[in-house]
Amino acid sequence: MSVPANGYVGRFAPSPSGPLHDGSLVAAMASYLDARACRGRWLLRIEDIDTPRVVPGADRVILQQLQALGMHWDGEPLWQSQRLAAYQQAFGQLQAQGHVFGCTCTRAQVGKGPYPGTCRNGLPEGATVRAWRFRVPDGSISFDDRWLGPQQHDVAREVGDFIIRRADGLWAYQFVVVVDDAFQGITDIVRGADLLDSTARQITLAQALVVTYPRVMHVPLVLDDNGLKLSKQNHARPFDTAQPLVTLNRAWQRLGFDTLSNLHDVDDFWGRATQHWRQRYPHLIY
Ligand SMILES: [Zn+2]
Repeated sequence: MSVPANGYVGRFAPSPSGPLHDGSLVAAMASYLDARACRGRWLLRIEDIDTPRVVPGADRVILQQLQALGMHWDGEPLWQSQRLAAYQQAFGQLQAQGHVFGCTCTRAQVGKGPYPGTCRNGLPEGATVRAWRFRVPDGSISFDDRWLGPQQHDVAREVGDFIIRRADGLWAYQFVVVVDDAFQGITDIVRGADLLDSTARQITLAQALVVTYPRVMHVPLVLDDNGLKLSKQNHARPFDTAQPLVTLNRAWQRLGFDTLSNLHDVDDFWGRATQHWRQRYPHLIY
């Protein structure tokens, strides 16, 4: 960005399980506009930690898609697959302070509800640990969502002790996000509303790791004709980069704005859209 960065640091963190679609673009757009409106930095993180879901080459496609729409990230993208030592270290920190415990339960034993705490108070000798869980403290977590307003969750009751290292040895999403947001100095998370439920869990982890959790804004999801969330799992198509202004305006409308007309190019779009965003969130400007 051409203006000097202030304290704001935002990020877009796609998982390379396929190309970006209209739904992921809405979240990316809101995050990008928020960073631009605050004259902050906008970082890119490729969340390729869930290796069975990674599609080879999808990360490169995502970078090209963003570039085709004139979305410029600051610095080098961060790949989670290069951060394994940092995750191990953060896990060691939690373990040393008694925040994690080994769990032998199978998925069938745990069922669908909150984790019943079966292994919380220790395992019989010789038991084989399958996964590692975070020991969730009692009490409710409150936070202010900049889009949705005040939120309150009781993680201990609603979710229970959740997994941070999976039975297949992979790190869980909730855990690596918190470690990486702290590492990258993120001040503001702007993402899709499907991740609203993750926020309280991530706050409990941030508290245990003694790191500051960013401010959050969860923007509306894009639904398909059947009312389902547009997602790679539902085989959403990549967004169209051949007509970038049409694609941008469609995402823009989904954020509740009127179509921008007489646009010269993508830079023109971002300049004008940023002005509108600033008017909507004037208190944001540091
Ligand atoms: Zn267990």
